[in-house]
Amino acid sequence: MDNDRTTPIGQVTPATGSAASPGVRPLDPWLSSYAARTHGMRASEIRALFAVANRPEVVSLAGGMPYLEGLPLQALAETAHELVLRHGTTALQYGSGQGDQTLREQILDIMRLEGISAHPDDVVITTGSQQGLDLVTRMFVDAGDVVVAEAPSYVGALGVFRSYQADVYHVPLDDAGIIPEALEETLTLLRSAGRRVKLIYTVPNFHNPAGVTLSLERRPRILEIARRHGVLLVEDNPYGLLGFESDPLPAMRSMDDEGVVYLGSFSKTFAPGYRVGWAVAPPGIREKLVLASESAILCPSNASQLAISSYLAKHDWQGQIKAFREVYRERRDAMLDALAEYLPEATWTVPGGGFYTWVKLPYGLDARAMLPRAVHALVAYVAGTAFYADGQGSEYMRLSYCYPTPERIREGVRRLGTVVSEEADL
Ligand code: PMP
Repeated sequence: MDNDRTTPIGQVTPATGSAASPGVRPLDPWLSSYAARTHGMRASEIRALFAVANRPEVVSLAGGMPYLEGLPLQALAETAHELVLRHGTTALQYGSGQGDQTLREQILDIMRLEGISAHPDDVVITTGSQQGLDLVTRMFVDAGDVVVAEAPSYVGALGVFRSYQADVYHVPLDDAGIIPEALEETLTLLRSAGRRVKLIYTVPNFHNPAGVTLSLERRPRILEIARRHGVLLVEDNPYGLLGFESDPLPAMRSMDDEGVVYLGSFSKTFAPGYRVGWAVAPPGIREKLVLASESAILCPSNASQLAISSYLAKHDWQGQIKAFREVYRERRDAMLDALAEYLPEATWTVPGGGFYTWVKLPYGLDARAMLPRAVHALVAYVAGTAFYADGQGSEYMRLSYCYPTPERIREGVRRLGTVVSEEADL
């Protein structure tokens, strides 16, 4: 495993001076200089798992890597070639801080599928939606401010909140998404405790890691609660178009264009390697988003934006998303069938789209403690504790079905079933 990535900042390995033997890291001479905001930084549990999980003999139900083999690779290669020949000096040059105008217009067509009507000026291109999360948090959160997030929450968002020294308060979700009454109660308690709540962070569709979707009926209720408490809602929606059964639900941004920052991404519906996402925000926030992004990265990559723009213009991107949905639906079915067969004592969510199911282990088993045994049995998952800011979640695990084939999924869950039975007998 890559030690540089798994050792938390501040944790030291024995000092051996400049003649350190390979693999032993000398004491970091800058330890006392780091800003306080680095103290909470640590490699995500998922990243720490990658090196092991990527060994071919391990069935990884851990990562959220999309399936890319279905992409028209030959055509994309030709487009890249043409792009450099025809638009090289634009593609390789600095560009606008807000992002390419044509791409911003094309993004409006994508968002219309979820009922959003916006102006190209409302859109800010980001380097993946991860950068959108970082920018919004940087703009709103001072150390000690509160971010309210679902229990569980996307691990990458928790990392951002931690790095800006936010206090995260979790609100439970159920099969219909975040629970309005629980949100109301949490916000009321925080207000009476004098806490400054800056953001409500939610993944309404095919939640990472829980697999559930916020019901249509709850969407306006959540927005009303956020509005009444004067808290900005961050709608993080990378999976919204990857539903298996029905048309996409209207985005929360389609119901409220003043109180929501919407984050979109090409990572799951096209390809994460381009690192292109976007944010849609009300005008005041949008202006600051552009300034914050310029100070972080000057401008998003022109080469990536042009490549995506030409993909959207020349290819049947909606047909491609439909094909992805078919692949993921088949894998979801393989996962659910295998769970019923090999882990009958566990319970799990039934995702209507996206990449993940959230499994509750039987017999009070601890998914984190079990993980080394699972990896030894050649199957990997992410323990539930990664998805909480406060150490909860040990009886849960996230299983992703996006990357392995249905056969591998089945074999992975079979191995997991054996590990769980052995644990239960201990
Ligand atoms: N939000 C959620 C809920 C995610 O699952 C991910 C990726 N796993 C991201 C944001 C970041 O995606 P990207 O930066 O690739 O757009």
